[in-house]
Amino acid sequence: MSREDRVCIIGGGPAGISAAMYLEKKGYENYEIYERLNKIGGKCYSPKIKVFGEDRTYETGAIMGAKTYFAVHEVEEFAGVTHEGGPNMRRMYRDKTGKEIFPFDIKKDITPKKVRDLLKLKRQMKKLVQIMNTKYKGYDCYGHVGVAKGEYNGLSKEVERPLHRIKGTNPNLKDLALPFDQFCRLNGVEEVMKIWIGPYTSFGYGYFDEIPAAYVMKYLDTTTAIEFINMRLWTWKDGTQSIYEAANKKLKHPAHLCTEVVKVERPENAPIRVTIRDEAGERVEEFDKLLVTTPLDHFVKFADAREEETELFGKIIHEKYVDFIATFEEDEGPTISGYIFDNMTPDRLGHAMVYYHRWEDLEENCPCTVYALRNHMGSPDAAYEYTIKTMEKDMKKCGFPVKERLYEQESYYCPHVSPDDYADGWYDKLDAMQGKQNTFYAGEILSFGDMEDTCASSRDIVGRFF
Ligand SMILES: Cc1cc2nc3c(=O)[nH]c(=O)nc-3n(C[C@H](O)[C@H](O)[C@H](O)COP(=O)(O)OP(=O)(O)OC[C@H]3O[C@@H](n4cnc5c(N)ncnc54)[C@H](O)[C@@H]3O)c2cc1C
Repeated sequence: MSREDRVCIIGGGPAGISAAMYLEKKGYENYEIYERLNKIGGKCYSPKIKVFGEDRTYETGAIMGAKTYFAVHEVEEFAGVTHEGGPNMRRMYRDKTGKEIFPFDIKKDITPKKVRDLLKLKRQMKKLVQIMNTKYKGYDCYGHVGVAKGEYNGLSKEVERPLHRIKGTNPNLKDLALPFDQFCRLNGVEEVMKIWIGPYTSFGYGYFDEIPAAYVMKYLDTTTAIEFINMRLWTWKDGTQSIYEAANKKLKHPAHLCTEVVKVERPENAPIRVTIRDEAGERVEEFDKLLVTTPLDHFVKFADAREEETELFGKIIHEKYVDFIATFEEDEGPTISGYIFDNMTPDRLGHAMVYYHRWEDLEENCPCTVYALRNHMGSPDAAYEYTIKTMEKDMKKCGFPVKERLYEQESYYCPHVSPDDYADGWYDKLDAMQGKQNTFYAGEILSFGDMEDTCASSRDIVGRFF
């Protein structure tokens, strides 16, 4: 690998922008980033909306981080952006009828059963922290290489010494391929799902009977989970998109916007030919290396994919996460974010699971983002229109009649593989393919569908292969 190599980065989301940053830090300056949209940040999209004559940012995609966002912090520092001064995260809980509930409050609606249940939950949370640090030692690194074989090998998530490589053997790690609900039952900690479901399922990452425990525990490692529980979360005043926009401006070669990669040809012993389409039309650019940060199951459709690429990437599953930003009838909106716990199980597909109230000072006149999942492995999808209508009805039940939807979207969200494919070593097969035909794979699938795991994966790939 030479620092003079021409590197093509496909995608200007967190993975692509952070990969360029890490390449520059390593002395690679001969790269180009192609982004098909007219904006940087991918699923970090923070549009400005005028309310009472004042423009403020709202979030349609990523909202928050925590003190365990080590790689995102490196991007922040490079970009000159800070999470200090972002709006506070505050929340309450509701049931499916819209009524306020207090599932974790030891002072409200107290009964002997509730006290017993809360004590049991506390004991099991303690047990989970303990087994993750002992029985599952090594679980808390980015990525999944080796896990299916009972090994760990990745950048550490330890607060004391993050982002250094840890490596070892621990046969118990194979359990992480199990769906999270089975993993919890196996370890006698099923009560913890009541807590983990909030930041996990409501944020669109899937249901606990279908998602390998590895994704849950690597995202909500015990430190991050405790930060969530105590609401010590990072947000960005100008939105998460501002991190990547500012970082892009600091790069020696900012991304080419409105430039879609439509074809990739990788002939033997010759440069990689990348066909790009922009407003001037189509043209071919030549590169020595390719760094793919866009969905790999999409990549095989526009690249000269090898059979093993088509087969492996064909196994990727993604969530269908729907959200809209809504205004409410005057003085009738929420004044704080809410979790609707009853709606976080597959029988409630298409129902609103969470709503995000961003600006405390705007009180009930603050536009809010409302979120729902419409797919579950083994069930028919909830139709998109049904989902939107159901989300509006759920908000009304909570007492918040939607006046207007200002923005709505469905995201290709949280790419992952099934428990069986995980156990079959999907990630080891992917790792063995890194570098073949001078192609490197990065982005959300590498570790987890959040900003931190995505940026850390870019750091890892650049560190190992460039
Ligand atoms: C509703 C929602 C809530 C979220 N909440 C959080 C949160 O609170 N905290 C958190 O950490 N994360 C959150 N996330 C997840 C986070 O946004 C993603 O994990 C992250 O954006 C993934 O980065 P990426 O670069 O891998 O992919 P993306 O962000 O999807 O970026 C990929 C980019 O590639 C571009 N592209 C695709 N195909 C091509 C092509 N052929 N040519 C050129 N460009 C192409 C796309 O336009 C896109 O810009 C949330 C996401 C959503 C949608």
